[in-house]
Amino acid sequence: MTRFNRRIFVFGGGAAVGTLTMGGRAAAAATFPFTLGVASGDPLPDGVVLWTRLAPAPLNADGHGGMPNQNIPVDWEVATDEGFTAIVQRGTATATYGEAHSVHVEVGGLQPDYDYFYRFRAQGHISPVGRTRTAPAFGTPGRDLLMAFTSCAQYEEGFYTVYRRMAEDRPGLVLHLGDYIYEGGANKRIREHAGAELRYLQDYRRRYAQYKTDADLQAAHAAAPWLVVPDDHEVENNYAGYSRSGNSPELTDPEWRQRRADAYQAYYENMPLRGGARPNGGNIQLYRRVRWGTLATFHMLDTRQYRHDQACGDGWQYCPEAGDPTRSLPGTAQENWLLDGLGQRNGTWDLIGQQVFFARRVDANDAFGLDGWDGYPASRDRIQKGWVQRGVRNPVVLTGDVHRSWANDLKVDFTNPASPVVGTELVSTSVSSGGDGADTTGIPDSAYNPHLKFYSNHRGYVRTTMSSTQMNVDFRAVKKITTANQPATTLRSFTIEAGRPGLQTP
Ligand code: FE
Ligand code: CA
Repeated sequence: MTRFNRRIFVFGGGAAVGTLTMGGRAAAAATFPFTLGVASGDPLPDGVVLWTRLAPAPLNADGHGGMPNQNIPVDWEVATDEGFTAIVQRGTATATYGEAHSVHVEVGGLQPDYDYFYRFRAQGHISPVGRTRTAPAFGTPGRDLLMAFTSCAQYEEGFYTVYRRMAEDRPGLVLHLGDYIYEGGANKRIREHAGAELRYLQDYRRRYAQYKTDADLQAAHAAAPWLVVPDDHEVENNYAGYSRSGNSPELTDPEWRQRRADAYQAYYENMPLRGGARPNGGNIQLYRRVRWGTLATFHMLDTRQYRHDQACGDGWQYCPEAGDPTRSLPGTAQENWLLDGLGQRNGTWDLIGQQVFFARRVDANDAFGLDGWDGYPASRDRIQKGWVQRGVRNPVVLTGDVHRSWANDLKVDFTNPASPVVGTELVSTSVSSGGDGADTTGIPDSAYNPHLKFYSNHRGYVRTTMSSTQMNVDFRAVKKITTANQPATTLRSFTIEAGRPGLQTP
């Protein structure tokens, strides 16, 4: 890129003065290091992670955002007011070249169930201000919680209005369930990816930087702490463990493993994650629990890194092999970890934040999706039966991936109409993936799947309000994301009463 710029400069010829002037202006503008905004995540009762990444020139092809190969001190402050007159914590972190000048500050010593503001200072500049919040103390419910979640934000397909509307709800917590970036090369639609399909660490770093320059995304991060888990497109479409989907046949296996490792490294660098998620040996530890007092427990799953390969070559088809009881979607260790955590019954609500469609959905030909839990039905059975055995009061599965809104009752035996409802699944549609969508004309395959209760094909998010007695659920949508700044509306609301699994209409 340096070479390319120099060539433009050299060949500027007759416009040399103009080029110099513009170059001078660009250089001045390119000194502000906080072009990617700020974020916070993974709250505890006494702390939270604060994130930023310095990138005065975010689209530089080397992935370093215009930063030099040196360590940069980054001051941070936490206050109880937006004007920073009441600062309660401050310190200095080091942004290193090796982690693309990202910082992950794990603040402690804060009050439980409390709102805070934070900001950074580096290289003589002050960052935008973010709002964050700590979790309630263990053993207490804290305030009612407004939690919003979404997934799937293909940058080229439209504007991030959904993120803006989420931020305006002033949530206490945001969950992002994956496909935060997409790996494909530039293919101009409403907007255009910088660069070709992602291959190396610098490519992933630049892609995150491009996405994060979006003001609506920055507003959503600045509004609340996030709990994030990736899906497939943070690496490559529909990969499974070390198995590729076949989209990059030109790579050798070691090259593909390096690509996955690079993708995980960039994910860690760009998300408000604790140091425990720092990649190690090409792997990343992301499944984790976040306790929200006695109100809720968030079990955040990684459904890509440990899964068996998709059966029958993936896709949508009838596939008896999928029923092999040895197959697992989260992998045995994570399945057991999940059941252990559910059995602790720490919160009224046990929310399982994960990626792919959980409820059974078959069509008239008994075909089903092999990338979701229908491709791993034994794994789903073990989890559902496990939570029933453990007396889990209010399990709610939260899902992304499919670019559609769904609301589903969960049953131990989906094929038996008399089988009791044992839980609920809320599926968020996408931020932008899939474009504007269309008005809904019925629930697909509902004749074969009576437990599927709601469907929509618009872009949006799910807004939940949790108390110790009920969860109110609003499916929010914007009609167009190919036009900027559209309003959001509620398409449909449900209530889930504590102690009564399944969807109820308010
Ligand atoms: Fe997606
Ligand atoms: Ca996906």
